[in-house]
Amino acid sequence: MRNHTATHLLNLALREVLGSHVEQKGSLVDETKTRFDFSHDKPVTAEQLQEIERRVNRQVVLDQPVAAVVLPLAQAQKLPGVRAMFGEKYPDPVRVVMVGAESPDKLNHDNSVEFCGGTHLPRTGLIGYFKISSQEGVAKGIRRITAVTGKPAYDDVQTRSAIVDELAATFQCRPDELQTRVGVLQDQVKALQTQLKKAVGAALTGVVDELIASAPEVGGAKVVVAKLPDGASNETVRTQIDRVKQKCGSAFVVFGWSEGEGNASLIAAVTPDLVKKG
Ligand SMILES: [Zn+2]
Repeated sequence: MRNHTATHLLNLALREVLGSHVEQKGSLVDETKTRFDFSHDKPVTAEQLQEIERRVNRQVVLDQPVAAVVLPLAQAQKLPGVRAMFGEKYPDPVRVVMVGAESPDKLNHDNSVEFCGGTHLPRTGLIGYFKISSQEGVAKGIRRITAVTGKPAYDDVQTRSAIVDELAATFQCRPDELQTRVGVLQDQVKALQTQLKKAVGAALTGVVDELIASAPEVGGAKVVVAKLPDGASNETVRTQIDRVKQKCGSAFVVFGWSEGEGNASLIAAVTPDLVKKG
């Protein structure tokens, strides 16, 4: 009942926040969640999701009445705020579920009004709390929102809150400083990576100079074949190969190295004179 009544409020909030193009394209309500599919051709932004949650929870806090009446279909279709779904067959008379008004004559356009045969809470306050747990695209132009209510919703928020507290303790800052703190750390990592690259490049130059000095000569060409220290990158090795070619004039070079766990790279190169010789 919590999940079903919340689904009606979600349907209304989606239209209010995303626009009147939003049409229900299917829903699944069970004891653990509500899953709602609707027409919308782009992802719902984080701000929009927050606003949708806020609007549903506002109705929860206001503890609105939920009432059902059975009306002739023609009369029901004229109720303010009602949205008939094209292609849907409705029974006549039809059962109308209203949130925020106890009778049809008290309805206005801000109320949720749906043709529905399902079971509902008597008041929205019993939803307890509403929390969207995910949104995804399910087909072209169709999005899906999954949400929870009551204790699962409270548990969800408590879990997320605990994660934030733990992260704040790890990063030794206040929860509201986390974003800035992580941003600073990301910048530091980037700067360190650049420094490391430079240092590895410099160290590699020394290693390659020694390799050139001790390389055997075959037919007037230096043969420089070696495994380079780990941590070299494709870019730094290429720079070194160019240096070998330039320093030796005539050379055959093969460098192998590992950039990380489980992968190995190999570059082979020859100077143009050897290419000409075939
Ligand atoms: Zn319903």
